[in-house]
Amino acid sequence: MTSESPPHTTQEAELNWKPPGSWFSIKISLVIFSILVIGNLSYFIYLENFRYRYIIVHHTASQTGDYQSIKKIHKKERDWHDVAYHLVLNNGSKSKPTGYLEASSRYKKLNHAVATKSLWYNHHGVHLAIVGNYEQSKPNKIMQQSIVNAIELLKQRFHINNNNILMHRDCSATLCPGKHIDNTTLTQWQKQWSSEPEKSIYNQQKNVIYNTHLSLTNIDRYWHHFVYLNIFLILVMAISIIFLV
Ligand SMILES: [Zn+2]
Repeated sequence: MTSESPPHTTQEAELNWKPPGSWFSIKISLVIFSILVIGNLSYFIYLENFRYRYIIVHHTASQTGDYQSIKKIHKKERDWHDVAYHLVLNNGSKSKPTGYLEASSRYKKLNHAVATKSLWYNHHGVHLAIVGNYEQSKPNKIMQQSIVNAIELLKQRFHINNNNILMHRDCSATLCPGKHIDNTTLTQWQKQWSSEPEKSIYNQQKNVIYNTHLSLTNIDRYWHHFVYLNIFLILVMAISIIFLV
């Protein structure tokens, strides 16, 4: 016989058994849960307010057009599922009245555009296409009001300042949106027309620009952003745990 205490019975051993490192596991789970909650909330706020850093102005270089006709052309010529831009501003030449704004699925889903050759500006810009050829002629008064209206609303919606209003030609080698539209003329029109906005145009454009607010009723438009985010967060955390623990 030795002086050591007798071995525990199986029953005692089971009663006293604690999973090794259980408190540590709980702490790790809490940290992972907190990172996922904070990450998703931050991303929600980012998408809602700061998705785009630039407003990029285009013209269609055609006298006539609307969202549907441009979509058909882009589908036929480029095999794109939607127009290259986020928003199309009508000049009254087709189905929609002058100043009427139409949003593509790229805008509704807060996705990137394919409107320039620069990946940076396609991803970080909200791309506004104005129907008409502004290399050939100046937009009329209603169009001038409509353009500054839409740009002002986009500035407010995504917290973009004047320095980040760009013409397509600032991003790629092109004349787009024509010599009659530049930052100086936009500022002039803003001063000229901001005191007398066309109310019906203003309200219609505001509705289109703000209708992508993230909410439970239209979350189906955005879920893909959150899937990518969570895959990224889980991968980063898994790699961190493997190397740090
Ligand atoms: Zn362009």
